[in-house]
Amino acid sequence: MDKIRLRYAPSPTGFLHIGNTRTALMNYLFAKHYQGDFIVRIEDTDIERNVEGAIESQFDNLNWLGLTPDESFLTPKKEYGEYIQSKKLDRYCKLADELIVKGFAYKCFCTSEELDAEKERQAAQGIVATRYNRKCLGIKDFTPYEGKEYSIRFKVPDDKIYKIDDLVRGMVEFNSKEIGDFVIIKTNKIATYNFAVVVDDFDMEITHVVRGEEHISNTPRQCMIYQAFGWNEPRFCHLTLIVDDTKKKLSKRSGNAVFFISQYREKGFLPQAVFNYIGLLGWSPKVEKEIFSQQEFVEMFDEKRFSKSPSTFDMVKMKWINSQWMKKMDDVEYLKLTKQFVDQTRFKISKVEDNWLDAVLLLFKKEIEFGAQINEHLDLFFNEIEYDEATKAIYAEFTDVKPMVEALKTSLEKLQDFNEDNIKAIIKELEVNFNKKGKNLFMPIRIASTLSSHGPELAKTIALIGKEKVIKNITKVI
Ligand code: GLU
Repeated sequence: MDKIRLRYAPSPTGFLHIGNTRTALMNYLFAKHYQGDFIVRIEDTDIERNVEGAIESQFDNLNWLGLTPDESFLTPKKEYGEYIQSKKLDRYCKLADELIVKGFAYKCFCTSEELDAEKERQAAQGIVATRYNRKCLGIKDFTPYEGKEYSIRFKVPDDKIYKIDDLVRGMVEFNSKEIGDFVIIKTNKIATYNFAVVVDDFDMEITHVVRGEEHISNTPRQCMIYQAFGWNEPRFCHLTLIVDDTKKKLSKRSGNAVFFISQYREKGFLPQAVFNYIGLLGWSPKVEKEIFSQQEFVEMFDEKRFSKSPSTFDMVKMKWINSQWMKKMDDVEYLKLTKQFVDQTRFKISKVEDNWLDAVLLLFKKEIEFGAQINEHLDLFFNEIEYDEATKAIYAEFTDVKPMVEALKTSLEKLQDFNEDNIKAIIKELEVNFNKKGKNLFMPIRIASTLSSHGPELAKTIALIGKEKVIKNITKVI
């Protein structure tokens, strides 16, 4: 069997986001599962829509995720030609001319005004899917057109059924009657997407085309071109949509979903976790498990398990998966990550002792879901915090705790060595002396010493807040 070769082919019209990352990732897994090649090709023929910096940003974010291509314009292989479409415009033109010679394509001299007028005319007749009227198809004598601009149109076969055996949808049929003669080379000599994509997939010996379902309607056009050249088609695989919780296609406007990969990086998500979550969108592994490494994904990938219905993007689950990956980090890595995200204008970490800061940050290793979330927890240790009404109301639910809290204050005041073990011993004493257990013991102590009803390990937290501040808090509550 030929070597499996798949490609991710972004147009530099935007940045890497959940949708195109899923496409890249599935192409990567598919290729790697079969020891094949993963290629990144830039489809930049829609010049007006290209965005500055998009290519660099896509590569940077793909690398961050571990989706490093075997081949791209950065690591090209000569035999496959250029990996950026704008560099092979001559080849597309040459091949289009070949199609003209063979009678599969023709020059079209219609101006955009003429084409618009024709569209309007058809629309006025009630035609919804307007199409080119083939005005230029029969031109035999080109003398009157000399020097005039032209596009090249593909001559769509009449009334022919195109069958696509899609890996996700099974057999899909299109009738060429639905498709008008389409442009393959524009008047500016630039190939259109449908033409360039076929030439490149052929030149690069792509065996499987995995892409979003928005491209399925392009596929019959591409099949026509393959057949005109007598080239073998790759196997197609159109992934179903990723939708948000309102069932709309996921986009940057999708409520609380973080859309761009750069935003995950900015918030301190881990690449393994983002890979893990996106790797589960649109197919289901056999094993009932949710945390997988990149290597595990490669091993278990199965193109027969792509789902036929849309997958819903779930930000809560993405965060949960990230929190699981954070828990797996060793402490040194965790500290390096969180320190990067501490808001240094809000928390003056340069003024505190390293050991103390490390201990404070480590308190939240099992609590936070992503790096930047650390900032939601540090006020207690660095700044004055408010004893808010909601917490007061919770405290008020615990009756006759005042004597216990006063005893807590007295014991802590007397404590010479304000460390976790000694504080634990004091809490133990209170348990015995005041005959309180569980929530009735811990909640009043937590609220009194931290002004908050939740948080990590209590004795450790109290020790790290420090004697002076804790006594101040308890006094406030009393
Ligand atoms: N350049 C196309 C896009 O960004 C990809 C098309 C394809 O994979 O065939 O949507």
